[in-house]
Order: sequence, then structure tokens, then C-alpha cells
Amino acid sequence: MQFRDLKAQYKALKTEIDAGIQAVIDSSAFILGKPVAELEDKLAAYVGRKHCVACGNGTDALQLALMTWGIGPGDAVFTSDFTYFASAGTASILGAAPVLVDIDLATFNMSPAALEQQIQRVLAEGKLAPKVIVPVDLFGQPADYDSILPIAEKYGLKVLEDGAQGFGGSIRDKRACSFGNMSTTSFFPAKPLGCYGDGGAVFTDSDEEDARLRSLRAQGKSPVDKYDNREIGMNSRLDTLQAAILLPKFRAFADHELDDVNRVADWYTQRLQNRFVTPTVLPGFLSSWAQYTILLEDRAARDAMQARLKGQGIPSMVYYPRGLHQQEAYRWMDLCDDLYPNTVEATKRVLSLPMHPYLTESDVEQICKVLLG
Ligand SMILES: *Cc1c(COP(=O)(O)O)cnc(C)c1O
Repeated sequence: MQFRDLKAQYKALKTEIDAGIQAVIDSSAFILGKPVAELEDKLAAYVGRKHCVACGNGTDALQLALMTWGIGPGDAVFTSDFTYFASAGTASILGAAPVLVDIDLATFNMSPAALEQQIQRVLAEGKLAPKVIVPVDLFGQPADYDSILPIAEKYGLKVLEDGAQGFGGSIRDKRACSFGNMSTTSFFPAKPLGCYGDGGAVFTDSDEEDARLRSLRAQGKSPVDKYDNREIGMNSRLDTLQAAILLPKFRAFADHELDDVNRVADWYTQRLQNRFVTPTVLPGFLSSWAQYTILLEDRAARDAMQARLKGQGIPSMVYYPRGLHQQEAYRWMDLCDDLYPNTVEATKRVLSLPMHPYLTESDVEQICKVLLG
């Protein structure tokens, strides 16, 4: 059994994917060939943004967005403490200060109450200028934008949605990667929409931001002349090959895979909800199930269960074993566990189960038998 079965997906889409790859090789347009622009148009239309700018990976997407806003030293960037490192690391790389925010244990997403406390603390300290909130759509469920956007408005902050895990999710009729001022996603192979290597994208409704992003992903070039460099940028484009792979994968995603993972999640929840804390999807929210994560009683129970699953050939993962405030790279910030009670609780109790659109009900039955046995 696979944690995320990319081979089953390839088998289902092989004809289209192989043809797409071959067409790119035949064209020799490996950098910013036609499939890249086609993908950008399709993804922007799908999420409901005016522009999509594809780039090298989800980390670069976050960095490009922050660079577009000129974020740097002296600026505070608020993000979740319980996330992949890039949500905060990209602020640090630009010399800005990540300010880590505790989560709600029910959704694993940024707690709006903790966010407001952190904003007020930074304002009271007077050392940093609050600039951006980076909410993370963790495990596929959009963050609580109904609460976060009014807080951003109240304090005059921009919102950058880290939708690396969130692509395909929604709140009512609004799709992930359309919340806040800009959004990013990742096409890392294991994400809800993944390619066969690294890839990412930034979404915006602003023509100016779109132009700046396109410049910054290519060494700060002018719109017309590649060798006229207007500012310091990155080299971060999505390979044409990856765009060609993503086009049929996106078709399958929109056509049935998003429904399929939601069906798999229901199969799990029906079987597990009486014995474990199963994922909470808020009313009106849809998850794209980057992960299906349950909570066990404590660390000992979690570790024992992971070992038991492994003994039966069933892979599971601990996302995440530590909060960002516990990372060595951020030790200098000297943040204590007391500030992050829900993150600390989650790190001890979470267990993510195999999740992908090609899981069958009998696979889920087999996994749940071990969990319930
Ligand atoms: C994967 C991920 C990223 C980074 O994406 P890459 O394509 O791996 O660089 C950023 N944020 C979150 C929440 C992620 O899960």
C-alpha cells in the first residue's frame, strides 16, 4: 500500500501525460513554452483569480509574492506555527521577521484569536512593522478567512494565502488560492495537484502584481527585454515539461479526483469517528485532503499505532513532529512551548493516513481494521 499512489494515477492518465511530454520534446520549447501559459490561464479561471504566474516551486511562490510587496527587514509576517517550514522561512530569507501563531486544534489551521493577540503584541513592542498575514490551508482545508480577513482589514495588513496544500478546497462558492490579496500553491508531487518534480504558482487579481511577479521570476527583467534588468529577481519558472504533465492531471483533478478524495475521507470518517478524533471540516468548507489526519490520545498511543500500521504494511506519517517555534533554525527566537499549546498538543497526537484519489473502499476497510483492531 502507498501513502499517496502516484503510480495508480499515472496508469490512469498515461496516454495523455506521455503525449504531452513527447510534444514538449518535439517542440524544444522547454522554458516558458505554450503549455505554461495554457496552464496559467486554466488554473486562474479555476480558482477565480485574474492572474496565475507559474514558478519553480511553492517556496519560491511565497518568496516571489513577498518580494512583490517589498517585504524585508523590520517587517513582521504572521504565519502558522504548525506548517511546513517554507511558510515562515520565506519571510526570514528576505530579512523579515516571521511571527508564529498558534493553531485551532480542531482544524489545525491558524487561530484567529491567537493571530490578533500576536498582532497586538508586535504593535505594543513597537520594534517591527506588521505587514502580512500568511494563513496556511493545512491538510487541504482553507484557513478561517471569514475571521482572518476582517482582522487583516482592521490592522491594515495584506493577506498571502499559502495554498500549497489547499488547491481544490473552498469556502462556500469561493475556491482556495483566491483568498486574500495573493495566493500561492505548490505542485510538489505529493500535493493535491502535483507534477513530476518541483513546481509552484502565485495567484493575484492585480495587473501590477502580475507584471512584477513575471519580472521577479526572471531576474527582474523588463517586460520586453530579457537583458534589461530593472531589479534583483529570482530564476524561478515552471518547466514546460511540468506544465504539460500538469494539464491532464488538472483535468482529472477537476473532473473526478477532488470528488474521489472526498469520498475516501467519508469512508474513513464513518469507520473511525467513534474511536478517534477525525478531521473537522467546518460548515460550508470543502477540503482537498492533502492529508487525512486523526488525533490519538497521546504520543505513546500515536507512536504505538504508527508501529502497528507499519507492521501490517500500511504507511502513515506524522505531519508535523514539531512546531516551527521548536525548529533549530528558529531557536534564536527563544519561543517557549507555553505560547503554542495547540501546536504542541498536535505534534504529539497527529497521525496522517494514506490518502489519494485512487484508494478503494476495501483499502480503507483494511487500514481501519488495523486502526480499530
Ligand atoms: C509544500 C509546502 C510549501 C512549499 O512547496 P514546495 O513546492 O515544496 O517548495 C509551502 N507551504 C506549505 C504549507 C507546504 O505544504
